[in-house]
Amino acid sequence: MKIITHECPECRTVVAANELEDNRVMKCPGRDCETVLRFDDLPEFDRDFFLENRDQYRL
Ligand SMILES: [Zn+2]
Repeated sequence: MKIITHECPECRTVVAANELEDNRVMKCPGRDCETVLRFDDLPEFDRDFFLENRDQYRL
């Protein structure tokens, strides 16, 4: 299974796409980082792949 992640542009914390998709907009979980991450920040290719295969990402 392809793991889709998004890297915070400020602190390089890696967030899983399913967390982003659950929240749509979330504050970066990185320590002392106030960056807001959005599912829409993912590249379109990754978003499409995730949405087509989202059942695989449900644990
Ligand atoms: Zn961050």
